[in-house]
Amino acid sequence: MLFDAHTHLNFEKYTDEERMTLAQEIESSELGYIIDVADCVRGAEQALKDAEDYEWCWAAVGIHPDHASVYTDADIEEIRRLAAHPRAVAIGEIGLDFYYGTDDREEQQELLRKQIRLANELRMPIMIHTRDANQLTMDILIEEGAFSEERKSWFPGRPAPGMMSSAAYASDMKVPGEYPDRISGVRLVPDARVQMHCYSGSPEQAEEYVRLGATISLGGPVTFKNGKKAAETVRRIPIEFLLSETDAPYMAPEPLRGRPNKPHYVEHVVRRMAMIKGISYAEAARILTENGKRFFSIGSEQQ
Ligand SMILES: [Zn+2]
Repeated sequence: MLFDAHTHLNFEKYTDEERMTLAQEIESSELGYIIDVADCVRGAEQALKDAEDYEWCWAAVGIHPDHASVYTDADIEEIRRLAAHPRAVAIGEIGLDFYYGTDDREEQQELLRKQIRLANELRMPIMIHTRDANQLTMDILIEEGAFSEERKSWFPGRPAPGMMSSAAYASDMKVPGEYPDRISGVRLVPDARVQMHCYSGSPEQAEEYVRLGATISLGGPVTFKNGKKAAETVRRIPIEFLLSETDAPYMAPEPLRGRPNKPHYVEHVVRRMAMIKGISYAEAARILTENGKRFFSIGSEQQ
């Protein structure tokens, strides 16, 4: 079974028929779960509709930084209302994108801060998009309490490095706050439930994020020939702190690069991650699915 931790089934250019065809393709694939991510109020409404229609679909609701100069406070209130839906499992995607232009950077920061506060108020996972704004994103997350001890206390811990895989892959990463779970004997570390979606920063900063309590999520670029940084990030970060995603319809993985991406193409991302980690595809698929279910509190015991 596979988990796509960031995808856009709600994509506004899909017709209802295209969305249904895609759903059928997903149902005949190995994909067991998707997080259908909104970029605006319309997207959030469609994502929740998808999540009502399909049992393998859950929604993330939020306003993307692209909308920073047009959103209103009424939109934030609408996101707050939609986030109460039982199929809404995260606030996202939210963040900073300084790739295009520079004129709305203040508004982007304000929008991000408001939505981190919303996620804290609602005690929900946070899904972060960041592009050409790595350090500022981290600074704002810290300032707004996304990695606070209080926030970490709301969520169960996650398995410590080396707890989930039998393979002896190299990782000498130190994660603070490790403690034994008295019930199961599994060693757990605090989890702030902050997903760094399609992570594109340095491997060193990825380690810093994980130490703070974040989770690193990777998609198509890890399969690209020029995706060395993403591959090095996968190598360095223990698999316990990774998620698999597609960001479909964008960022199709190799060997499908250049085509419209689809959620079940996450298979290629997971195959590449397994190769880098030196574990089997089946084991990587199992662990990354468990990670996704735990991160979003979905499946088995929790729903
Ligand atoms: Zn996205």
